[in-house]
Amino acid sequence: MRGLMKTARGPGNLELREIDEPTPKKDEVLIEVAAAGICGTDIHIKHDQTFYTPPVVLGHEWSGTIVEVGPDVTEVGVGDVAVSPATAYCGKCYQCKTGHMNRCTSANKRILGTSLANGAFAKYITVPEYIIHKVPSSVSLEEAALAEPTACVVHSVIDKSPILPGDVVVVQGPGTMGLLAAQVAKAMGAGKVIVTGVSADQWRFDIAKKIGIDITLDVQVDPNPIKTIMDETDGRGADVVIEASGACIACNQALEFVKVAGHVTLLGIRGRPLDIDLDAMAIKELTMSGTWGTLPSSWVTTLRLMASKKIDVAPLITHRISLDRWEEGFELMEQQKAIKVLFTEFN
Ligand SMILES: [Zn+2]
Ligand SMILES: [Zn+2]
Repeated sequence: MRGLMKTARGPGNLELREIDEPTPKKDEVLIEVAAAGICGTDIHIKHDQTFYTPPVVLGHEWSGTIVEVGPDVTEVGVGDVAVSPATAYCGKCYQCKTGHMNRCTSANKRILGTSLANGAFAKYITVPEYIIHKVPSSVSLEEAALAEPTACVVHSVIDKSPILPGDVVVVQGPGTMGLLAAQVAKAMGAGKVIVTGVSADQWRFDIAKKIGIDITLDVQVDPNPIKTIMDETDGRGADVVIEASGACIACNQALEFVKVAGHVTLLGIRGRPLDIDLDAMAIKELTMSGTWGTLPSSWVTTLRLMASKKIDVAPLITHRISLDRWEEGFELMEQQKAIKVLFTEFN
């Protein structure tokens, strides 16, 4: 089979390579990948801007069908549709013992598509049974490929953001994470969700409307975005602001948009130090949360939200292509012309 492999350190070094089909170890399953999404992390790996251990096949956002199981596998079987987090945790270290498996400190951690485990930009992958989640039949294979980013958002927004029914929530950045966060906030009962972005995001705003977002705000066109948010919140500010754009100006605006004693959620990483005045944190008595990856429970919640149609990820899938056109897929992501690009053919 062929896999899209990061062959060595450094920028580039990404190529479609012929590799052996994997065989499952006794506690693993063999998955035939149905769909695999290109993530910002894959772009960072391409440009040598993040952690990875080459040579490795990329791809950690996937769905697929189990086609073979190792002898010790007990809870899933051939024909089951499955998804999993990228990271296999050890269960033995301090972080795992205290419930933070997403921050497992084991040195030999297997991270699908990043380190010590070939990822889903290939026809087959092997995954340990204990990190697998079975996908309900009402969720399509393509939708399930968005379970990974959705689970990250669920951990960030449901586990860490104090959103109450009726709250006004501002989500900055209408990319995959922002549009998922907006839907999760709605599912938690937010009364009004406002998605902010820039003028180039106009087509993303259209998708936001499609998934039921009340208000979109172009902060480049609006002469006074802070006033607009105040007008939408009876002059008080948003109860919760979710920063999903990664832009410096958005981080500063988050502290202005949020109400006294409100909450700012940082979704994802900025990737660089920001010039930001944190005094607002003190003066407005704010709280702020960050998250990294997912917990096992994030996946259970994600699949329930998808199965019950409380969130709809289908409109976020803007492109479906075959793996041999990977360069086109990466280009769409890098030029910000796509929300989610899925590889759906691997031959
Ligand atoms: Zn990802
Ligand atoms: Zn651990």
